[in-house]
Amino acid sequence: MTVITRFAPSPTGYLHVGGARTALFSWLHARKQGGKFILRIEDTDLERSTQESVDAILQGMSWLQLDYDAGPFYQTQHFERYQQIIQQLLDQGDAYYCYCSKEELEALRNQQMANKEKPRYNGCCREHATVREGVQPVVRFKNPLEGEVVINDLVKGQIIVANKELDDLIIARSDGSPTYNLTVVVDDMDMQVTHVIRGDDHVNNTPRQINILLALGANLPQYAHVPMILGPDGARLSKRHGAVSVMQYRDDGYLPDALLNYLVRLGWSHGDQEIFNREQMIELFTLEHVNVSASTFNMEKLLWLNHQYLMNSDPEYVAEHLLWHLQQLGLDVTQGPALAEVVKAQRERCKTLVEMAEASRYYFQDFEAYDEKASAKNFKPGTEKVLQALLAEFQAISEWQGEALHNLVLQTAERLELGLGKVAQPLRVAVCGTAVSPAIDITLALLGREKTLQRLQRAIDYIEKLN
Ligand code: GLU
Repeated sequence: MTVITRFAPSPTGYLHVGGARTALFSWLHARKQGGKFILRIEDTDLERSTQESVDAILQGMSWLQLDYDAGPFYQTQHFERYQQIIQQLLDQGDAYYCYCSKEELEALRNQQMANKEKPRYNGCCREHATVREGVQPVVRFKNPLEGEVVINDLVKGQIIVANKELDDLIIARSDGSPTYNLTVVVDDMDMQVTHVIRGDDHVNNTPRQINILLALGANLPQYAHVPMILGPDGARLSKRHGAVSVMQYRDDGYLPDALLNYLVRLGWSHGDQEIFNREQMIELFTLEHVNVSASTFNMEKLLWLNHQYLMNSDPEYVAEHLLWHLQQLGLDVTQGPALAEVVKAQRERCKTLVEMAEASRYYFQDFEAYDEKASAKNFKPGTEKVLQALLAEFQAISEWQGEALHNLVLQTAERLELGLGKVAQPLRVAVCGTAVSPAIDITLALLGREKTLQRLQRAIDYIEKLN
């Protein structure tokens, strides 16, 4: 039997890290089993669903490269099918119209609360519904009264719920629109989903959904309820803990693979291994090793992982993502060195792509002013002579290449009887505007002849004016 999993977000906000982790686990399980992964947008709540959120979810999935084999499906396009199933349940006696008014239900609830009972529908219309003129009834599912539902959850283990704990839930509102538990069941059945992997905030819905599936004679999927993600203070992860939107991590300079690696380890482990590329994740992931308890989001660890990924990934892959950040800074990357080379030069010192892009501006664009401290320290009366000497050497060199440039700087220092720092640092400030950059030979090679010569001349002019 082909494994089929789905990610079924409601488009009522951005794709958050909790949702992304659920999507990742569903994707991994499908990929590992050679199965199919479906994306289903649960947009039946017309008031809360927005196109903006749909777009944000699709964008998040695409940035994370969680590719789906079918979909995106939209539940709002399945209304006819839901009506058909609601009618089928009514026809076969597994559902009924309920005319109870809001006031009656409220009074019932208050009474149950006063008696310290669990609030639940009392089944008033279950056997003898009285049709009330002018009242649009809801439709309720006839939950079995006896027996129990046994869920062999792949994460949580066995969960047993007695049917008498479950009341007759509404499957169609008075305006005829289907409710969440009905639409999920119909789609999971029609899409032949074999594994429902979702947040454990849905665990209470599962016995109800199983009962509806049984009434429809459908095969039951297996369930895996994934525990919550907490913030460092132990409360459920939310905006106040910092970024929770997946796309915010892009904006903050994280690589999608680093975020995925972080998310897979958040609630799943394979010995004490921390770093997994996509292939390893697929090979090693099992739902059985997902933790039962909630996990705590740790920004520092994510940052550490991101740095590991910047340092060890294929520079071309990092370059693809660096490009986006450079463009956000308004830089014209056609006016600079190959991005993969910039990555290689910068990645030891930068933990995020935002840092890397910022620290690489001078490769693409002339800086406006010298860093004050750096120029005060390195541009002294007389420094222009050092720079002039370098300029002359650089103008004469035939091949613009790291090692040759390095030797020239060394020779110039020797000739002028200066320490290397007294030559390399002013040179660095002259071409980068700051005293921090990768090794000077790498920096010069990346900058290229034209920019280097131009900026040396500019620094010479600047220092001469200081004299
Ligand atoms: N649409 C539901 C949500 O976003 C998920 C439903 C499910 O996975 O069964 O919470």
